[in-house]
Amino acid sequence: MARKVLVLSEVRDQELRNVSFEAIAAGKKISEGGEVVAVLLGENVSSLSSELIQRGADRVVTVEDKKLSTYTPDGYSQAVLAVIKSENPEGIIFGHTALGKDLSPKIAAKLNSGLISDATAIEVSGGNVIFTRPIYSSKAFEKKIVTAGIIFATIRPNNIPPLQKDETRSGDISSLSVEIKDLRTIVKEIVRKASQGVDLSEAKVVIAGGRGVKSEEGFEPLKQLANVLGGAIGASRGACDAGYCEYSLQIGQTGKVVTPDLYIACGISGAIQHLAGMSNSKVIVAINKDPEASIFNVADYGIVGDLFEVVPLLTNEFKKLKI
Ligand code: FAD
Repeated sequence: MARKVLVLSEVRDQELRNVSFEAIAAGKKISEGGEVVAVLLGENVSSLSSELIQRGADRVVTVEDKKLSTYTPDGYSQAVLAVIKSENPEGIIFGHTALGKDLSPKIAAKLNSGLISDATAIEVSGGNVIFTRPIYSSKAFEKKIVTAGIIFATIRPNNIPPLQKDETRSGDISSLSVEIKDLRTIVKEIVRKASQGVDLSEAKVVIAGGRGVKSEEGFEPLKQLANVLGGAIGASRGACDAGYCEYSLQIGQTGKVVTPDLYIACGISGAIQHLAGMSNSKVIVAINKDPEASIFNVADYGIVGDLFEVVPLLTNEFKKLKI
């Protein structure tokens, strides 16, 4: 059954975020040979449209407005609802990002639609679209089918592989004029921390430290390993609460959810709330002094030892491989 599917693109620093391409791949699957329409919102973003086509979108609809230059729930919901009204799609896909998590329930409520949030896989069988999503803090996964109305879902970043870029693809790019009014939130300034390298939620390699790193300086060997592997630094809440690092690095139920190809947990015990944010990683390596630590229950490779000895050894070995 061919469907028209709308996918929301996300832009950061005038570049499309990877999750935009993953959303197109998800949309393609759900469309079952129908049409995938990418929605691009912002100011001076139209130039990014062709990349969305090359990544599999059949059409792009842009809404350009100064008031959309930064995300606000009011501005984005007005623009997205206007595109939905004009396109009348059968499916809608957002990334399960900070933006998608904030915006999707608002849009679903306005459409009087259900919402499948945080989908990690999508299958299509016999005309049904079957979503897999985590429940009980990722201890189990459930499968969901939408039986009536719009198929509206958010997809977890790094789970649905994007399509290969095809520079020969072409597609229609159009703009929709939307009057954005009555913004109740105005972003006056965005204060950025000095860049810590790779973005944690999209990183392919994450080196995470727990209370076992013992101090802010204790993160140094982890940073060196992350540098060699081109990875991002993450942390447990234990490490954040102890003041060893910023809360923006926290992974888990009340922190970020990550699904890298490689997750190296250093001095993290493996509390259920931490596992909720990383247990879907493709390969998990745990380094812990305590052989009984629960992190070893989810680890593919476990190293029982002192992280201050093991991490520098790993860094040296990876350096030799010249990754
Ligand atoms: P600990 O449990 O203290 O573990 C430290 C580990 O380091 C130990 O296993 C120890 O053996 C090991 N270690 C010590 N020294 C070394 C060394 N030199 N070398 C190797 N290993 C060493 N936690 C999260 O992480 N994310 C969340 O989002 C989150 N949300 C929560 C929400 C709620 C509502 C609640 C109640 C809790 C939440 N927590 C969360 C907290 C969680 O329950 C744990 O307290 C926390 O994850 C523990 O952090 P930790 O593993 O770093 O510390």
